[in-house]
Amino acid sequence: MSDCIFCKIANHEIPTSLVYEDDLVAAFRDMNPQAPVHVLVVPKEHYTNIVDEVPAQTLAAMAHAVKEVARIEGVLESGFRVIANTGEDAGQTVHHLHWHVLGGVHMSEGML
Ligand code: 5GP
Ligand code: ZN
Repeated sequence: MSDCIFCKIANHEIPTSLVYEDDLVAAFRDMNPQAPVHVLVVPKEHYTNIVDEVPAQTLAAMAHAVKEVARIEGVLESGFRVIANTGEDAGQTVHHLHWHVLGGVHMSEGML
């Protein structure tokens, strides 16, 4: 999608703090981090969110990227949280599928 910020970031049209990428996925640091580790994992193709008929291969690549990000950021052993805000009630603000990978701090239970 031509006017989508995450399409532009994932396809190198806008510079970013890239943590990991492969053919299908890019992972970069959130510009407004909510934890010491806060990385966004996104597909390079545009999908609106998790219910947008995302191919299994892309979901598998995103899951693989989550593990790589956790390893690179040093939270694979200590633990981390993965969040996919989906739709209005969840507060999704960027309408390109993304998974938040949050870690580096002990998180309270709250909603989860
Ligand atoms: P959502 O609320 O849609 O789940 O999360 C969107 C996230 O994208 C927010 O945490 C926000 O800080 C982040 N974000 C929005 N625009 C940009 C951007 O241009 N660059 C980066 N690195 N993060 C962004
Ligand atoms: Zn997009």
